[in-house]
Amino acid sequence: MRSRALALQSRGIEVLDRLGALGDLPARAKNALDFRVYVDGRFLASFLFGGPVRGGPSGMHGMPQAEIERQLRSRLGEFGVSVEWGSQLGDATQDDSGVTALLTNGSAIRGSWLVGCDGAHSAVRKVAGIDFTGEPVAQRFVLADVRVGWSGDRKLAYAWFEGGNSVLFALELPDTSDSPDLWRFLGTFPLEEAEELDDDGVVDHIRRMLRERARVEEVEIRDVRWTSTFRIQRRLADSYRRQRFFLAGDAAHIHSPIGGQGLNMGIGDAENLAWKLALVVRGLADDALLDTYEAERRPFASRILSGTTKATRLILTEKPLGRLFRDRVVIPLTNLSVVQRRIAEAASQLKDTYRGGPLAPQSDARFARSPRPGDRIADLSCELEDGTLTRLYNELARRWVMVLPSRGGNACVAAAREFLGDELLTVTAVDHGVRDALLIRPDAHLAWRGNPTSTSVSGWLSAALAEPAAPFVG
Ligand SMILES: Cc1cc2nc3c(=O)[nH]c(=O)nc-3n(C[C@H](O)[C@H](O)[C@H](O)COP(=O)(O)OP(=O)(O)OC[C@H]3O[C@@H](n4cnc5c(N)ncnc54)[C@H](O)[C@@H]3O)c2cc1C
Repeated sequence: MRSRALALQSRGIEVLDRLGALGDLPARAKNALDFRVYVDGRFLASFLFGGPVRGGPSGMHGMPQAEIERQLRSRLGEFGVSVEWGSQLGDATQDDSGVTALLTNGSAIRGSWLVGCDGAHSAVRKVAGIDFTGEPVAQRFVLADVRVGWSGDRKLAYAWFEGGNSVLFALELPDTSDSPDLWRFLGTFPLEEAEELDDDGVVDHIRRMLRERARVEEVEIRDVRWTSTFRIQRRLADSYRRQRFFLAGDAAHIHSPIGGQGLNMGIGDAENLAWKLALVVRGLADDALLDTYEAERRPFASRILSGTTKATRLILTEKPLGRLFRDRVVIPLTNLSVVQRRIAEAASQLKDTYRGGPLAPQSDARFARSPRPGDRIADLSCELEDGTLTRLYNELARRWVMVLPSRGGNACVAAAREFLGDELLTVTAVDHGVRDALLIRPDAHLAWRGNPTSTSVSGWLSAALAEPAAPFVG
């Protein structure tokens, strides 16, 4: 398995929380990364990345992707589902009634849809004939997770810039089951040099960069966990859906790892698509609801691609003026807590909204109060109908929740139940700030907001879910 993401951002933490898949990650993860930033050997900034964000969980969790995936698999196991390794999709066909996935071992699987979560080189994307439009963004990088003896402070992370477009990052990996001297080094590697590097080549390069960039002479690399080389690309699938084929995660979008967004975006894709598929499968929504997946998620990916590309070009620049701007303005500004907060907010993905999308038209929204339809709703305390205290996020994910300002006499609940049946749970807000009824989607975005005695929620639900298709049988 390749070593990749480390930053589970607030949005990703919230999704795993709703799924009951956080497990012991919060206890084991590292929190914000406390960077020391040097340029040409000069110390320029202390930059805390991923600190707490207002209205969200307590900052990012630093944890290797493999551990995060392990938690998800373990939760899946509680539902009796296990992931089958070593089976590879070779081809797939679709017709009016379903999809046939052909595996390279010669077997075939029949289903209603095929969701390609198969990474940047997605076979599903190729089979679906969907273009992956984009370009390379920066030169090559080498990555090494190694057990190392050196002078680095385990409580800190480091960034050493040299010249315009050379950088080496170093951060200690969170305590897994191993002893705590496992570090990740991520450094640029000139394109002109040899195409492929083996483990030794990567480690030599890191050692050289540590000596030249960080002025660290004494380095003892004891154990090489994994290494990789890659080139940063920015690519976005032209479409996320072709009839019964869908794309999610890196199959749909790839971009710079600067800012730690990709894994979190993929988790968000999956959550968005999952509840929509669930409604269609249960015969509560028309297939057209599935088109809103791309309409909501692709613009979001496009914004992230643009932001991470700009950030990467800002910090890795060959242009003298760009370099001056980086060294005199950008990096020094990251010392400021207000700037760190802004960066943490942007990276958290908590502010992302589907306002203006197909499920949250904003025709009369100019004067509307927040939260508006399409916005993410932060977790809140509430009471079940029998008076039991609970949290909104405990109740979401597997269903919709109508949050009411007070008990009883609520026409909106009866109206919503006509569409959602048992998929809808009603709770009363304990927080006295809630004045309206709030219909919240399983992914914690606001669907509808209005007077609890009104039935206008029917209008939203009938437009969103359209005419239900016949229930899925199979
Ligand atoms: C150095 C680096 C650091 C990063 N850091 C962060 C970070 O801190 N935070 C963050 O959010 N993101 C980060 N990312 C991005 C993140 O790692 C990816 O966005 C994430 O792995 C995407 O997950 P995915 O499941 O979509 O694809 P992948 O992780 O690529 O998984 C695809 C899966 O599909 C399988 N597969 C492929 N082809 C087939 C086939 N034909 N049949 C069956 N299975 C197939 C693969 O074996 C694999 O298991 C980083 C990336 C890099 C390179």
